[in-house]
Amino acid sequence: MKYVEEFRDGELGRRIAARIAAAARPDRVYRFMEFCGGHTHAISRYGVTDLLPDNVRMVHGPGCPVCVLPIGRIDLALQLALEHNVTLATYGDVMRVPASDRMSLIRAKARGADVQMIYSVADALRLARDDPGRQVVFFAIGFETTTPPTALAIQQARREGLANFSVLCNHVLTPAAICNILESPDVRSLGTVRLDGFVGPAHVSTVIGSRPYEFFAEEYRKPVVIAGFEPLDVMQAVLMLVEQVNQGRAEVENEFTRAVTRDGNATAQQRVAEVFELRKRFEWRGLGEVPYSALRIRAEFAAFDAERRFPLTHRSVPDNKACACGAILRGARRPVDCKLFGTVCTPDHPIGSCMVSSEGACAAHYTYGRFKDVGVAAG
Ligand code: SF4
Repeated sequence: MKYVEEFRDGELGRRIAARIAAAARPDRVYRFMEFCGGHTHAISRYGVTDLLPDNVRMVHGPGCPVCVLPIGRIDLALQLALEHNVTLATYGDVMRVPASDRMSLIRAKARGADVQMIYSVADALRLARDDPGRQVVFFAIGFETTTPPTALAIQQARREGLANFSVLCNHVLTPAAICNILESPDVRSLGTVRLDGFVGPAHVSTVIGSRPYEFFAEEYRKPVVIAGFEPLDVMQAVLMLVEQVNQGRAEVENEFTRAVTRDGNATAQQRVAEVFELRKRFEWRGLGEVPYSALRIRAEFAAFDAERRFPLTHRSVPDNKACACGAILRGARRPVDCKLFGTVCTPDHPIGSCMVSSEGACAAHYTYGRFKDVGVAAG
């Protein structure tokens, strides 16, 4: 398949690995955060870290959309499904994320709530069209990649006069999360997380372009290399980051030129701007309340905003005390640092959100890396 197989070529991978090993200075350690869950998955699945020298290390970031959804927001969806008797439509992974009181959307479904697994927001629109007498709420999550389809669905619902369709909006913004990490005590004052640069998002960047990351390169002196989700994309991005660090450069470079431009997709950005506006604050799992880090539906489209249509009570709920998801999402811990990893917490019985989606750091490591844990070197 074009643009897939050629980016999984083992021989090419070994050649890039040799170039990274030759470029990495032996007298220093390089630590690069891969922001996206897609990169986390690719790194684990294809054993990218096994090809890197010991002094080039990857740090998982908060870019898995399921992982960063806090318990309080899932509880809102549960209120809709259990107390307001709506049809709640969402993605399969979201249904399994643990919420308050040992509940989840899939457990609510087992208790009789109408929770429907869908593959896209178009499915939620269809559910609403097919049953006009029933309220259908789309539980929307995700970064800038999934926001334009939600905007289009809301505009479509208004055109069709669908009075029984609304959206519980949890769309979040990548640059605000990167900023939060760079400003966090872990990075700035405590120094417990040392970052030399970022592997920048792939799909998100097709929408927002590479321009928004220029701020991080200029203000924080952190190089960013936008990379595709295939293993050779990640390897090439790591090589470019090592070279930037060696040369004392902090720039935004684009490895994913086959899909990403500096300005991104202007049409998608326009649709998003028509329907959504910034929220002043939004809670993220692991990062806490992050200012201007998420979107809400504009007043003009209030009829399609589930938070306005239904009386809902939001409550911030702490994670399970033993779960290290928060620290993992900040890059301060690794899955193996959690004492529940692989014992109490597995993909079949997730205790925290990072064990749910295949893009979550814990799930990816459980699936592809746990057999290598004996003798794992301290990060
Ligand atoms: S292993 Fe489970 S409990 Fe531990 S940090 Fe990961 S998701 Fe949370």
